[in-house]
Amino acid sequence: MAGIDIEGLATVYPNGVRAVDGLDLTVADGEFFALLGPSGCGKTTLLRTIAGLESATEGTVRIDSADVTRTEPGKRGVAMVFQDYALFPHMTVSENITYPLKVRRVAAATRASVAEKTGDELSLQGLLERRPAQLSGGQQQRVALARAIASEGKVLLLDEPLSNLDARLRLEARTFLKKLQKDLGITTVFVTHDQAEALALADRIAVMQSGKLRQLGSPREVFARPTNTFVANFIGSTPMNLLPGTVASHGVSVSGGSLPATTGSVPAGAEVTVGIRPEYLTLSTGDVSGPAIRGSVVVAENLGTQSLVTVDCSGTLIGVTVPEEDEPSPGTPVVLTASEQRVLLYDKESGEL
Ligand code: ADP
Ligand code: MG
Repeated sequence: MAGIDIEGLATVYPNGVRAVDGLDLTVADGEFFALLGPSGCGKTTLLRTIAGLESATEGTVRIDSADVTRTEPGKRGVAMVFQDYALFPHMTVSENITYPLKVRRVAAATRASVAEKTGDELSLQGLLERRPAQLSGGQQQRVALARAIASEGKVLLLDEPLSNLDARLRLEARTFLKKLQKDLGITTVFVTHDQAEALALADRIAVMQSGKLRQLGSPREVFARPTNTFVANFIGSTPMNLLPGTVASHGVSVSGGSLPATTGSVPAGAEVTVGIRPEYLTLSTGDVSGPAIRGSVVVAENLGTQSLVTVDCSGTLIGVTVPEEDEPSPGTPVVLTASEQRVLLYDKESGEL
């Protein structure tokens, strides 16, 4: 088992693109770590640089405390699963799984027992003699995982391993992957552009933008307290409300009213961006005391057990989730309130907390 230490890492392609742009990161031994960010932000490049498939332009990569920055991929002790699985079409499942062992000249009998054991772990019983084309997408994905695990790497690098599965299978595979990772206890870096997947799976999440880290924390931290408006926008299945506001003596004024807020060193009168999640707003139809925003319901969307209600507050649209049975009809006058610790104030220019 092993941790990963990345320091001052930059990966620049020959065309001049700085795909990884000065990044520091530590992944703990046995941790399930998610790298999350929009398409093109450098996730695959970072993973490939850890694996040694791209060479670092600046900085260092350490695995299990050893500097592997200039070590060839096969000697770094990493196992990688690619987005498209990269199975060998002419080989059986069993041969695919044990290919890395064959390269290392492990005896055929040993390979057969590893294929059997890993196949069991990944629910591939009865499929070992098939070829990849005879498998479903979910089965192919498990063969790719089995091959990575059978190679006995110290760290497992997964590049969007669930993105080619349909929605239902993706949920099943996600649960399976989380359990497998905990059972094996192998240090895992999981790349995804899907915030829900990262929140569900990871012990910690790093959010990337343009080759840089924008926030690193537990799923709870990045969801409840995004440290900048980029992360605030990116995390959450309903988008965070980001409203223009002005700091007042006991909170912050926004279109349609005010909210309580911890203003700290921000002076009264300062213009800010107010961040509040739809899940953290309370909608009432009667009177309330204290700071509140008044508006009228525009539309409500059913999300299952919850509804997302859009409220027009003097020209600004604010989203709020309510239990599905409390969904108000369009035109209803409503009042929105929030508790002080849920209201985040971002610098209007930099977007930082
Ligand atoms: P992600 O996996 O987050 O979608 P990538 O690491 O694939 O991002 O890409 C990061 C940036 O590097 C993008 O701007 C992409 O166009 C560029 N890029 C990726 N691969 C190469 C390459 N082989 N040569 C030049 N530019 C590349
Ligand atoms: Mg990618």
